[in-house]
Amino acid sequence: QWFALDEMLQLIVEQFEPIAEMKEINIEERIERDLQYFGDKDRLHQLLVILVDNAIKYTASGGKVSIICMNAANLIQIIIKDTGVGIPERDLPHIFDRFYRSNKSRTRAEGGTGLGLSIAKWIVEAHHGHINVESKLNEGTKFTIKLP
Ligand code: ATP
Repeated sequence: QWFALDEMLQLIVEQFEPIAEMKEINIEERIERDLQYFGDKDRLHQLLVILVDNAIKYTASGGKVSIICMNAANLIQIIIKDTGVGIPERDLPHIFDRFYRSNKSRTRAEGGTGLGLSIAKWIVEAHHGHINVESKLNEGTKFTIKLP
């Protein structure tokens, strides 16, 4: 169905604000207004929550999470980036695999099943979109989603 993607993102930011505040993480948002999108609203919500939750989970105190969304040439582009722990280069090809967790000992303390990103990729592809990741260890991670 048609829904306002900008309003959905805004609500997610509001929902995560208290958690970010507790961790002293600054959430920066640049969300274009009036972004109407046709798709599975519940799945899109789930996708965005997975990525924002990870960004906050894998970022230390004092860090920053940026949420950017815009309409560019009939593609909706969503960027979720953080200044967190980053992902080692050798792990990057695997992070969308089911049950894969980078540096297991480090991430175990945070809990999690390693399913989040495989679900995220599945949702994006079900909407004929693309998701890609860029990351540098100890510097941060950037997820870019493009939806037609
Ligand atoms: P859950 O399924 O509960 O979200 P998870 O976070 O371990 O658990 P995924 O969301 O699939 O699982 O993420 C897979 C792995 O990718 C994580 O274990 C983590 O190592 C890495 N990862 C994901 N997002 C980030 C991020 N923003 N920064 C650094 N590492 C990340």
